[in-house]
Amino acid sequence: MLPSPLPADFIPFNRPHLAGPELEYIRQAAAAGKLSGNGEFTRRCQQFFEQQYGIAKALLTTSGTAALEMAALLLDIQPDDEVIVPSYTFTSTANAFVLRGARIVFADSCPDHPNLDVAQLEALITPRTRAIVPVHYGGQACDMAALLALAERHNLWVVEDAAQAIEASYQGRSLGTFGHLAAFSFHETKNLSAGEGGLLAVNDPRLAARAEIIWEKGTNRAAFARGEAARYEWVDVGSSFLPSELNAAYLWAQLESRKIIQQRRQQLWERYAAALGPLAAAGTFQLLPAPPIGTQPNWHLFALCCSSRTERDALLAYLLRHHILAVFHYLPLHASPYYAPRHDGRLLPNADRFGQTLIRLPLYHDLQFEQQDRIIRCIENFYKRKSHRTL
Ligand SMILES: *Cc1c(COP(=O)(O)O)cnc(C)c1O
Repeated sequence: MLPSPLPADFIPFNRPHLAGPELEYIRQAAAAGKLSGNGEFTRRCQQFFEQQYGIAKALLTTSGTAALEMAALLLDIQPDDEVIVPSYTFTSTANAFVLRGARIVFADSCPDHPNLDVAQLEALITPRTRAIVPVHYGGQACDMAALLALAERHNLWVVEDAAQAIEASYQGRSLGTFGHLAAFSFHETKNLSAGEGGLLAVNDPRLAARAEIIWEKGTNRAAFARGEAARYEWVDVGSSFLPSELNAAYLWAQLESRKIIQQRRQQLWERYAAALGPLAAAGTFQLLPAPPIGTQPNWHLFALCCSSRTERDALLAYLLRHHILAVFHYLPLHASPYYAPRHDGRLLPNADRFGQTLIRLPLYHDLQFEQQDRIIRCIENFYKRKSHRTL
């Protein structure tokens, strides 16, 4: 429970950042007289991703969840199709496919990182498997070379859940450009935000025309507006996946400021790593391993793993008593109340361990160095007290 009212020195887990021109751009969108989706700011954002990332067709969505749901519709996922998803992820990664009736086959994490363990994937593939959905946890790339080779060998779709992976890359290419489809998120807690928002990256050009129809409620409105269709009509299934221009205007300001936003996160991330590295080296807790050679991380989160769930909960409570909100992350989906009765029973020990021991520290643009130093000191004090108690 959060203290109420919040004390003056309270450090939240996240705080939305205003890069500068967000409100001015929202004013411009209102002045332009078009607030519904697919206006000028939407066009600018989508064009940015198509040109800078090399995405064949980029479509802004109301959320990362909506982008994943579009992916499931586009791939025509049918009841009893199987989709391979890591267990250690957000519900939407799986839910988007469950909504179409798919069975989720959960993959375990790597021993030292929450990303799915590609070495264990082949054993999960059956004749019913249609797609693999790798999640780039914390903006760190999955082993995409091995994953794409496997998917190609078995003729499977790849949908990257790149919700946390904006501005990160693998072998010189942006994450979110490897799968046939990819989903980004601009939720308040992500590096770049629209409040709520997302993007579907259509990297396989065969899927582009239908993606636009599904995006526009099953109509050919976008093609009609370009003069490519004689009539505006209902041509396929779809839903309302477009965000309003208000969200796109906010996002455009964040996209323009992405370099400054990323620099600040990197600076804060490196201060945590420098200060907490010695404790990790001494075996007090574990940090996630450094990004592999050839990958560019995006400093999305700073995580540490305690030696047990009891210790993790005690550390979170200790931080909160000192007015710092740190949080654990996912509860593995294979063990969730909804999916446990449907899960095939395989044990996923690495996902379980991250579920029990991982915590994320506050990391946001406007976190001040003094506040960060207080967080670091508090963690050091927790472990000093703990070692005294056990002596
Ligand atoms: C944030 C997130 C999502 C969902 O994105 P929303 O924009 O909040 O719908 C999906 N998957 C992962 C891995 C996420 O971190």
